[in-house]
Amino acid sequence: ILLDLLQFFSDLIEQERETVGDRHELIFQITGNNQDFWGDRGLLQQIFTNLISNAIKYSPDGGTVEFHLIGKESQVIFYIKDQGIGIPMADQENLFQSFSRGSNVDTIPGTGLGLAIAKACVELHGGNITLSSQVGQGTKVTVSLPKICPIGQLSPSSNS
Ligand code: ATP
Ligand code: MG
Repeated sequence: ILLDLLQFFSDLIEQERETVGDRHELIFQITGNNQDFWGDRGLLQQIFTNLISNAIKYSPDGGTVEFHLIGKESQVIFYIKDQGIGIPMADQENLFQSFSRGSNVDTIPGTGLGLAIAKACVELHGGNITLSSQVGQGTKVTVSLPKICPIGQLSPSSNS
């Protein structure tokens, strides 16, 4: 489905803003060109709501969550960056596996599926997802997606 990226992500960020209220500041920044993006609405929603919800969940109230969208020639790069608790280096490589949770989460509840689902959706979309983090400093997740999803139209056309 041909998506208007700006519209899609403005709506998504607006929804998240309503959810977090004034507990967190959500910064949304777009750079580069907003060319046609052929993608699956449902997959994109799944990817970015999981990532934004982690950024919020693992940040203290008052923290800032940044969402950057950078349009390149043939792909779009996304950064989701928080100033939260961060993840110890030793835990970082396993977090994309189902039910894997870091030793950083302490009593914060969760099932350990968000990143695994996000990664599966990113891969369906022909893209890449990586994470970098420092304890006490925050976490940055980078997603890159080709502007043309390799598997073509996935969502029912009523979604368009
Ligand atoms: P849920 O299934 O509800 O999303 P979860 O958040 O624990 O549960 P994932 O989203 O897969 O599961 O994240 C896996 C683990 O990665 C988390 O338990 C946490 O240890 C770590 N993590 C993920 N995102 C962040 C983040 N932004 N800051 C700090 N730790 C994070
Ligand atoms: Mg999660």
